[in-house]
Amino acid sequence: MFTQYCHCNKCREIASMSENSQDKAGYSHTAAYLTNNFNIVTGENNLESLIRGSARLMLCSTCKSLVYGISLDPAKQGGIGINANNFDFHQDIPDSFKPVRHIWYANRIVDFNDNLPKFKDAPKEQFGSGELL
Ligand SMILES: [Zn+2]
Repeated sequence: MFTQYCHCNKCREIASMSENSQDKAGYSHTAAYLTNNFNIVTGENNLESLIRGSARLMLCSTCKSLVYGISLDPAKQGGIGINANNFDFHQDIPDSFKPVRHIWYANRIVDFNDNLPKFKDAPKEQFGSGELL
């Protein structure tokens, strides 16, 4: 598992729909998990599906916050992106949730002066060009 910031148009649109103020930053903070390690335990009937580009985005029906997103392409469904803002740690955010990179940075509306790698689109293992900005 790792987390990253995503500045893509989908994430910015979804952020604007959400009633969760943490989502409204103009980018998403996504935790990437292996799909095989992901299970919905409860609340499945309170999710709604939105198709954007090549992704299925599952939102909370009540507050429209993104819960998770997955590719529509079966060849790219090994990983799943979960909205890191919706994890409830009841304490400090663990180090494992510190973002490792920015993706779709070319689409950003907010600049970051951190030392994280900034990918124009996405790394090759996430089916992008791997090009850094
Ligand atoms: Zn995104």
